[in-house]
Amino acid sequence: MQFHLPTAVLYIPDGLEPGEALRRTTHMAISAHQDDIEIMAAAPVLECFQQDGRWFTGVVVTDGAGSPRDDLYARFSDEEMRRVRAKEQRKAAFVGEYAAQVLLDYPSRVIKDPADRHLVEDLAALLQIAHPQHVYTHNLADKHDTHVAVALRVIEAIRSLPPAERPQTLYGCEVWRDLDWMVDDGKVAFDLTAHENLQAALLGVFDSQICGGKRYDLATMGRRRAHATYFESHGVDQTQGLSYAMDLTPLIQDPPKPIQPFVRDLIEAFACDVTNRIQRVGP
Ligand SMILES: [Zn+2]
Repeated sequence: MQFHLPTAVLYIPDGLEPGEALRRTTHMAISAHQDDIEIMAAAPVLECFQQDGRWFTGVVVTDGAGSPRDDLYARFSDEEMRRVRAKEQRKAAFVGEYAAQVLLDYPSRVIKDPADRHLVEDLAALLQIAHPQHVYTHNLADKHDTHVAVALRVIEAIRSLPPAERPQTLYGCEVWRDLDWMVDDGKVAFDLTAHENLQAALLGVFDSQICGGKRYDLATMGRRRAHATYFESHGVDQTQGLSYAMDLTPLIQDPPKPIQPFVRDLIEAFACDVTNRIQRVGP
């Protein structure tokens, strides 16, 4: 497997031959940064963990060189930070028993440049070999530019494939800005009740970010628990943990829905939900 950047890495925790390792993939998550996958896509990791015939592959597109740093890592250069973050991502892939972990190693500015085709081409090549049935990436209402740019490149890469070779589903998941605001019948809820220990372990390996002063581990587990409790105002909790996703599948079907009106409709549905309730119970 040849990627555009010679520094790109394909890590296979169980040491299988690269083609074979990728071809067993059934679920794939594509994220901007090291740790985003473990924050947003725990559901497919758990769905594949120790399951016959189901394999999870992670793809991280940026190099991590510009990451914030503090404490143990305060004096690290960009290059040292890049190495630490790649190592942490490999640790997560090992703990989660991923089929493969790809680190494409692009600087963030390349990802945000819509004229640069390299990432789209790398992703299309990967999707063609791995042929995942289900793909997870950032949601289009995320508030981080790089996250939204990655989601757009993923959509573009999938659309470049013949319809028969595209994944069956594409989900946009939560990192910066959760999806509680979406109307309930418009969002996908993943049950994360099982394996809280494994979820915590996957989040915990990213020491350079947590130790840098951001408790992503506690915040992410807390968000999952909060979603489970606040999903329904009546009745007891059905799950101990939930994560939400925006179903982006209509954007990769043939013919695909245009992106901006698709997102505006979701926001409009939220606006209607709020105003209708005020009208219903108001004076
Ligand atoms: Zn990120």
